[in-house]
Amino acid sequence: MTASPCPDEVSCAEARSLLEMFLDDECDCGTTARLAAHVASCDHCSRIADAERHLRAILRSSCVEQAPVELRARVLRRLSALRVSSTTVTRTVVVDDGQAVVSSTVRSTRLERG
Ligand SMILES: [Zn+2]
Repeated sequence: MTASPCPDEVSCAEARSLLEMFLDDECDCGTTARLAAHVASCDHCSRIADAERHLRAILRSSCVEQAPVELRARVLRRLSALRVSSTTVTRTVVVDDGQAVVSSTVRSTRLERG
């Protein structure tokens, strides 16, 4: 990143040139805050940002639909691995007076995503 000579001022041109990075959360905190402030106060840039966000949402959803088979398989494999690792089944067999008593304990852990 190149340091801006006037760090508090964001021009429309600068805002638009950094918009993609801003929407991708690739700017540093200070730049993100300044761009957010500019977009919030500038009608023109906020409209561009809105349009960009819509475009991104559309692109993202069409990317998911067109995800290559290999990627899809990898994601599914990861999901099934998560499911297996989050569930623990314990079976205890107790033989008492010739009678087999099977006790099972199923413990499942809920994974929370941040
Ligand atoms: Zn602007």
